Order: sequence, then C-alpha cells, then structure tokens
Amino acid sequence: MADNNSTPKPSNFIRDIIIRDLESGKHDTVITRFPPEPNGFLHIGHAKSICLNFGLAQEFNGRCHLRFDDTNPTKEAKEYVDAIMEDVSWLGYQWGEHLYYASDYFEKFYEYAVQLIEKGKAFVCDLTPEEIREYRGTLTEPGKESPYRERSVQENLDLFRRMRAGEFREGERVLRAKIDMSSGNLNMRDPVIYRIMHVPHHRTGDKWCIYPMYDFAHCLSDAIEGITHSICTLEFEDHRPLYDWFLDQLKTPCHPQQIEFARLNLSYTVLSKRKLIQLVDQGVVDGWDDPRMPTISGIRRRGFPPSAIREFCHRIGVAKKDSVVDVALLEHCVRDELNRTAPRRLAVLNPLKVVIENYPEEQEEELDAVNNPEDPSYGTRKIPFCREIFIERTDFMENPPKKFYRMAVGQEVRLRYAYIVTCTDLIKDPETGEVVELRCKYDPETRGGNTPDGRRVRGTIHWVSARHGFNAEVRLYDRLFKDPNPGKGGQDFMDSINPDSLEIKKGCILEPSLMDAEPGSIWQFERQGYFCVDTRYSAPGRPVFNRSVQLRDSWAKIEKRLKQKG
Ligand code: ATP
Ligand code: MG
Repeated sequence: MADNNSTPKPSNFIRDIIIRDLESGKHDTVITRFPPEPNGFLHIGHAKSICLNFGLAQEFNGRCHLRFDDTNPTKEAKEYVDAIMEDVSWLGYQWGEHLYYASDYFEKFYEYAVQLIEKGKAFVCDLTPEEIREYRGTLTEPGKESPYRERSVQENLDLFRRMRAGEFREGERVLRAKIDMSSGNLNMRDPVIYRIMHVPHHRTGDKWCIYPMYDFAHCLSDAIEGITHSICTLEFEDHRPLYDWFLDQLKTPCHPQQIEFARLNLSYTVLSKRKLIQLVDQGVVDGWDDPRMPTISGIRRRGFPPSAIREFCHRIGVAKKDSVVDVALLEHCVRDELNRTAPRRLAVLNPLKVVIENYPEEQEEELDAVNNPEDPSYGTRKIPFCREIFIERTDFMENPPKKFYRMAVGQEVRLRYAYIVTCTDLIKDPETGEVVELRCKYDPETRGGNTPDGRRVRGTIHWVSARHGFNAEVRLYDRLFKDPNPGKGGQDFMDSINPDSLEIKKGCILEPSLMDAEPGSIWQFERQGYFCVDTRYSAPGRPVFNRSVQLRDSWAKIEKRLKQKG
C-alpha cells in the first residue's frame, strides 16, 4: 500500500518503545493486533487504532493480527464480523493468514482457569451479582472477602467443571481470581473471570455455557498469539496490573507488554458503539453506513477515500493524554486528497434556465473541458453546448451589489469552457414574482472562454446544457450534531442532533458524462465540492450523489488561529 502523499511519519512514544525493544534485543520482531469486539461497526476511532497497529507492524516488518474479541455472545454477530473485515481491508491493511477469534481459544482459556484453581489462585463463588458488587468496596473503602474464598482446590475444580457442564443457572456461580480484596485498584479485588451464560455463541453454538471475562481472555489471547506489544486505549491503564497478574501466574508462551494511548475524540461526533447503535435503532440515520455516520462504512459511502483517513491518523498522532480533534481536520485531509484525485465535472444543483437568444435553435457543439487541473494525465473531455442551458440560481442576482461578478442584467460573464454571455432580460413567474428564466446574448468570438480583444471579464460560472444534461438526486450532508461536544455535562446526546443534517435535492441537472458514473466513484462538481455516487440508492443510468465535502476549507483558518495561540 503506497502512501505517497503522506507527511513524514512523526515518531510517538509507542514507536519509541518498539525501537528500543528491537535495539536491546528484547524482541526481534514486532507483533501487534487489532482486537475488535464484533458487536457493532467500526468507527473512525477504530481507524486510529488500526492505522497504529497495522502501521507499526508494517514499518518494522512485523505483522498485525486481526483478532475478533468474541467472548460475549449476547451482543455479537457474524454480520459485524463481516463488516469489520471489509472495513479493515478497505482501509488498506492486510492481516494475511493471521485472522483469529478469541472464541477459538475457549478450550485453552478453560485450561488456564483450571491452572489458576490448581495454584489456589481462583475460586468458585456463590455470591449473587449484587452481593459481589456490595463486597467489592469502593475507592475509599476496602472490599470484603467472599465467604467462598477458602474453598478447597478439589471443590473448586469440581464446581467449575459442573459450571461448564451446565448444571447451574445464570448468575448462580462465577469463577473469581483470588488476588486482594483490599487492593487500591478495584480491578484487583478478586475479579470475576468466568460467568455462566446459557446463550449460544455465533461461532461455537451451544458448546459453551460459561464465558470468560474480557480481562482474562484478552491477555491470554495476546500471549497465545505471541503478541509483543498489546496496544490499547487509556481506560485500560487500571487493568494493566491485572493483565500482568494473570500472565505472571500462568504458564503462557510469552508475556506481551500492554501499552495505552489516548483514544480519538472528534468534535461534533459521537464515537461509541453504544451511542451509534442508538442512532441506527431509533432511525435517526438510515443504517450503520449512513453517510453522516462516523463509521468506516458511513465514511466510505460518503466518499472519504481510505488514503485520506490514513493521512488523518498520521496527522493526529499518538499521545498519552485525551483531547478532542476538530472534525474540520478530517474534512481537510479528505479535500486535500480529492483535490488531487477527483475528476472535475459540471453540475447545477439549483437550476435556473438561460436562453441564449442569438444561438441558433438547431445548433449544438462540443467544447473541451479539463478533467483535472492538478494532473494533466486526466486529459480532457467534450461537453455539449446549445441554445438553452441551466446555471446555478445563486449565480444570478436581479439587484447585484457592487462586487458581484456573476450573472446580472447588462453584465458580461464567462460560461466555463464555453462563451462569454451578457444577460439581456429576465422572465418572472407572474404569480410568485420568482425569476424563472434569463435571456442572454453570446459572443461567438469568445469560444473556450477567450477574450480576443483582451477585455476583462471577471466572473466565470458553471452551466449544463438543458438538452443534454440529465436530472439527478443529490444529497447534501451537514454535521449530524449541532453541538461540538454532543451530550456534554450529562445531557442526552440525542438532544444535540442537527435536524438539518440531510438535504435531498431532486431535479439537479448534471453533465451527461456523469450518467454512467459508477457507484462509489468520486467527482468534483466545479465550484461546489466533492460528490460520491451512492452505493445504495443509485441504479444503472440513474446515479444518486452524496456530497462528501464542500470546497471551502475551514481547517486552514483554524490552524492559523491555533498557531497564533501557540
Ligand atoms: P466503543 O467505545 O466505540 O464501544 P470499544 O472500545 O468497545 O469501542 P472494541 O471493538 O473493543 O470497541 O475496540 C477495538 C479496538 O479499538 C480496541 O483496542 C480499542 O481500544 C480501540 N478503539 C476503540 N475506540 C477507539 C477510539 N475512539 N480511538 C482509538 N482507539 C479506539
Ligand atoms: Mg470494547
């Protein structure tokens, strides 16, 4: 995968640890992993973790495993497994043969649990879930030991075997690690490591009715796979002592190092599967891949290219302190990439008809248009022109202010790639008073926008031939939330939803060559923005376009302000 346009890779503390470990000989290769739970779709926050884990492996010629952390059958599904694989590949990363499922280790986990019991380091506890919570204590008060803590190894082994055999109801018994009920770290107060759940698993079916907890399963999965650096987000910092405790107690093939970094937070965005599920279930959006969603699939459908996401992840860097990244930076990266790669087309979103009175009725011609001024290899194309065209309604003003250089009665304006025209008259709807048509004269000497006599025409506007253009639906998106920090201060994030985040425009008039645009293809509509052919609503010969981003870049301004602030 080539990232030819990316800024030089800045170092970060995780990369530095890896360099040191390779230099000191602690490791001779780097093995990382990306461990999603298949209980929802991946979002842009996950992309940060993917770019970090796969990126480091790539840089140091190691490897990165894709491991499904599928130890909680109630919320997990194959649908999510498939979507996650599609998203990681789309981002440009390959796991090769290193695809793993924590559920494949269930038998091994069980054996490790037996090992703990045999060492006297785990016990079967009959307290109810409420009692366990009560006994746990608080940050200021030590916990209380379970009355079942001193069960004999024999009894524990027998009960644990019977838990597995399905002899008990859910919640009746759990297996707990025997650590320290007075530890200052609540995670170390005899944490539960197995619970009974009479729930079928999407991969193991009815084989198991006991399932391991995250903290137990995760460190063991890492060790089984020989992970060298287990990179996770900051909220797991307090779990690290437990991660290390399990691996110290048990005979595992290795002891990976857990390293925490700050998760990505984005302004005007929620990044939590729990919240994203709510948006989907309550029909606020039309699915996980709605173009307004911060999911990888939503971003893809919106027309954000994977290289722009990778560049964004490089630019935000990796830190140990939480912060909020401005969503304008993400949009900036998208714009930057698309400016280089998106072919240009002409499209009128709010059409106003223009009749060129001195252009013969039956005449037509084809004009040359540049496909990408940033890259001559994109070549040129022909666009048809005739007596009737559409222009953007906002490019005309009946009573223009002084510096309005677009279309106005008595004023010359250049039609992009075509001629210089002068508006001579306007026609209004007699009832509403709305301007419904403009009359113009063109200057045949100005073909291709030339002004042979050197006269100055300041404005250039886009247009589409009325006879050749076609009608299409274009969907304009705005931020899904009105608030930079949806749900801050205990408010319901659903109250921050922007009711105008989607505007469906029907009757837009597009250049004929767009008729066959492939679903997923991305174009610049000149002077408007970048637009991607929707993969759900389009049909052959009838593309529907999603606006990816506008041309106007707010990031440059923000960056300048940030620099001034120092
Ligand atoms: P969510 O908080 O959205 O429910 P999660 O952490 O439960 O996400 P997992 O499937 O467990 O989702 O995450 C897989 C990996 O992605 C984990 O290593 C996790 O730390 C990382 N990750 C999740 N969210 C972010 C984020 N916002 N920024 C960076 N990494 C993240
Ligand atoms: Mg999680």
